[in-house]
Amino acid sequence: MSFLKEFRNRELAEALVRKLRDIPLRKPIKICHVCGTHEWTIVHYGLRSLLPANIELIAGPGCPVCITPALDIDQAAELALQGKIVTVFGDVSRSIGTKYSLEAVRSEGGSVKIVYSIIDAIKIAKSDQSKEVVFFAVGFETTAPITALYILRTPPKNFSILNSHRYVPPAVINLYSRGKLEMDGVIAPGHATTISGLKAYEPLAKEYGIPVVASGFEPVDVLMSIFMLVKQISEGKAEVLNQYSRSVTWEGNVKAMQTIGRVFELTDAHWRGIGKIDHSGFVLKDEFKDYDARYKYGLKNVDYASEMHPGCRCAEVMLGRIKPTQCPLYMKTCKPNKPIGPCMVSVEGACRIWATHMLLP
Ligand code: SF4
Repeated sequence: MSFLKEFRNRELAEALVRKLRDIPLRKPIKICHVCGTHEWTIVHYGLRSLLPANIELIAGPGCPVCITPALDIDQAAELALQGKIVTVFGDVSRSIGTKYSLEAVRSEGGSVKIVYSIIDAIKIAKSDQSKEVVFFAVGFETTAPITALYILRTPPKNFSILNSHRYVPPAVINLYSRGKLEMDGVIAPGHATTISGLKAYEPLAKEYGIPVVASGFEPVDVLMSIFMLVKQISEGKAEVLNQYSRSVTWEGNVKAMQTIGRVFELTDAHWRGIGKIDHSGFVLKDEFKDYDARYKYGLKNVDYASEMHPGCRCAEVMLGRIKPTQCPLYMKTCKPNKPIGPCMVSVEGACRIWATHMLLP
């Protein structure tokens, strides 16, 4: 199997849509997915337009660049302007803090280098140990294991991380339990769930009666996952099921989670525009604090109060309350080549996905 052709098969997709239409639903339902890549598939293949009108697909807070706090970006900018070499992923460098993006800081002479992973950042640190090098560690449980692994390998003393790693399952569960995310079922992100395992989502089904399906990223994967959710909702069931069995297991990647657990512990963490969410972030354990840039350089704790740009409605986009096209700045002052809010920056941001597919109000 190529794992592409089969999962882009038109006849199979059409058959799934027909089956979906046959499922009786007592009321309109909302299905939330938690991943920018799923939103891309849904928009790119026009899946929303294939669904019955009583099934709404909403995009949740699953873009790591979108939820990285503006004030963490400010701290990275502060370090770069002090002469530390700040290493960062390309899309994160374009996200604007309260004033500037790291890309803008670089054009003003700040030392910002684009890297593909922590491995590149450590190479830079090793190549000149007279320079202080900081890796801006952004991402979910998909990128946290490699950060943890390389911290365990004892990088040079001139290296540290500015940590913004976040953990998806507690965030989704918490946002639902607090009434911030309205949904009847969840499509769990296939790649992140490959690490956390399906079991991390069990409380949603058991405690809150919300069915969960871990999904792959091709159109047939997504339609199949929607079908598996809608069927459960129609039958009054709430189980955690696996559509993406070619990658996801119940236990997940135990080794990767253990590696995270050796270096980080869970903490309450801030998600940009959304606020603090219990147990949704990873913080370096005390024994690794010499690699914590905030500790090493005495960075002050930040106040996250005013981190969204006036008029930017990313938080509502990320909670599925509005569509990107309902933001008054969408494709007027906020465009992919001149983003204002974080959802227009990353290829996983809902606004950028809608904009690059020319979806208009
Ligand atoms: S269009 Fe731009 S300003 Fe509006 S919500 Fe999206 S990213 Fe924010």
